Amino acid sequence: MTDCLFCKIVAKQVPADIVMEVGRALAFRDINPQAPTHVLVVPKSHYENVAALAAADDGLADDLLKACHAVAVQEGVADAGYRVVFNTGLGAGQTVFHVHAHVLGGRDLTWPPG
Ligand code: C5P
Repeated sequence: MTDCLFCKIVAKQVPADIVMEVGRALAFRDINPQAPTHVLVVPKSHYENVAALAAADDGLADDLLKACHAVAVQEGVADAGYRVVFNTGLGAGQTVFHVHAHVLGGRDLTWPPG
């Protein structure tokens, strides 16, 4: 999609601090981190949200979750515990409509989130 920020990051047209590129997924640091580790994991192809990703039904959602865990391991937060969040829809705070997982860790994470 031409006017999608994360598509532009995938295409390397917009700079990002990329931490992992694996298969059909790309991971980069969030520019406004909410934890010592705050990485966004996106599919390289454009899907608006979790529903669209799930409907794709081609194993991409699996790939994305595996990439999230690989990022947590690489960041050294997997053993202590980490959180994977998909904000889905305006009411849940989604602001970029290219599906992305937030991988958060490196501090104690409280529940419920705000
Ligand atoms: O879940 P939500 O759509 O709100 O998350 C979008 C995230 O993308 C935000 O956490 C924001 O800080 C991040 N972002 C980024 N790089 C940009 C623009 C937004 O990491 N250039």
